[in-house]
Amino acid sequence: MTTDTARPLTLGSRYASEFPELGVPWTAAEAAEPRLLVLNEALADELALDADYLRGEEGVRLLTGTHVPAGATPFAQAYAGHQFGGYSPRLGDGRALLMGELPDGRDLHLKGSGRTPFARGGDGLAAVGPMLREYVISEAMHALGVPTTRSLAVVATGNTVYREQPLPGAVLARVAASHLRVGTFQFARSVDDDDLLRRLADHAIARHHPHATHAARPYLELFASVLRDQAELVASWMLIGFIHGVMNTDNTTISGETIDYGPCAFMDAFDPATVFSSIDTGGRYAYANQPPVLQWNLARFAETLVPLVDPDQDEAVRLLTEELGTFPERYQQAWTAGMRAKIGLPDDVPAAEATDLIDELSRLLSATGADYTGFFRALVAAADGDDQPVRDLVGALAEGWLVRWRALEPDRESMARVNPIYIPRNHLVEEALDAATAGDMGPFTELLVVVTDPYTELPDYERYTRPAPPESAPHVTFCGT
Ligand code: AMP
Ligand code: MG
Repeated sequence: MTTDTARPLTLGSRYASEFPELGVPWTAAEAAEPRLLVLNEALADELALDADYLRGEEGVRLLTGTHVPAGATPFAQAYAGHQFGGYSPRLGDGRALLMGELPDGRDLHLKGSGRTPFARGGDGLAAVGPMLREYVISEAMHALGVPTTRSLAVVATGNTVYREQPLPGAVLARVAASHLRVGTFQFARSVDDDDLLRRLADHAIARHHPHATHAARPYLELFASVLRDQAELVASWMLIGFIHGVMNTDNTTISGETIDYGPCAFMDAFDPATVFSSIDTGGRYAYANQPPVLQWNLARFAETLVPLVDPDQDEAVRLLTEELGTFPERYQQAWTAGMRAKIGLPDDVPAAEATDLIDELSRLLSATGADYTGFFRALVAAADGDDQPVRDLVGALAEGWLVRWRALEPDRESMARVNPIYIPRNHLVEEALDAATAGDMGPFTELLVVVTDPYTELPDYERYTRPAPPESAPHVTFCGT
């Protein structure tokens, strides 16, 4: 209920008013019978939003876009993008709206709020399952310490969405540092207006990379800063076995946050070639391809910045190319530091020795196809003196490795802090979403409990630590959700 003391939410319209060229003011579709399925109270608190207000009639309408706070201008954003390598000059929010900026400067954005001028052939809608999927996986990622957009709420609309079958419709309300993408820059660059491009770059610097203002070449530093953040981001994905599944340039942020949880999934059995998405038939976005693909996306970003970096185009290209070339090294550094922490190596273990041990471990995991998340927790047990869980996963192959590793005196506590017990395992996510689609939120709520506190072992949740039973079909995720 909305009470007399409930505090309505206020939203800015900075992006809509500063960048009229980059979108269209728009109105959300009516929701026949809006019903709040899940509200992220912790996030509401963090944002100083009134959860009671959001639960009330007006709040729920705001979360579907049908109540617009005074001063707000819901805005369908334009962007371009390379999808699976092919360029689309006009993508944009086909079924989404930027509601505006929250008091802390982050964006409040809705997904599934109806057709916009960017909808192309789409219906502008989203189903309950995929929106809850983004909710649970993004919140799990946040709990795992990965920069990500957050999920504030999912509201069932009461409308029917037609996919292979009729499904209940929903709107996801998400919060992001911003919705600036590489694709936003591609769009601004394509209209050939250097002033627009410069204003966009200045906006991105002010919001996400303010130190760049003071650099000798601010726009080159913007590029370098995005590159550093994205190198660390993709390293953090690799370390937890996360596969985004659709790393198009429109799904690569300027803030360095993970965005757009569509066909993403966590790898169970270790296999660098793992692909879950039904449409990724060539394996472009396979697990091991994520770092090179990110570098490719950054090259597309670099191209958009050429006119800003130097009046001499050749010089601009030279400077940006040189910076782009630092990506593999930056990525490798971030990944190696993370891997050292996962196996608990003390700081004084020399780099060459650590690399050797990590390489051998990668071979061990590849050869055995061990459950990735389970293996590192088994290693925590091994640090406590119990090798049996490791042996159960990788067998005798591990003996020599364990002897070398133990001699380096691994730090058990640091390992327990970075190796999760609970991740949103595919079969559990599917089970929770199927139940929610049928009207039972119980399994979703349970799953959310464990994945949002992934390092704390709970007595009755053993089932959530195990991979899918071997007889189950390989996991496949679907796009166009
Ligand atoms: P995504 O795969 O969610 O990153 O979306 C890729 C593009 O397709 C974006 O421009 C979306 O707005 C658009 N899109 C995806 N699904 C729909 C839909 N059901 N209706 C309209 N546009 C959509
Ligand atoms: Mg997208």
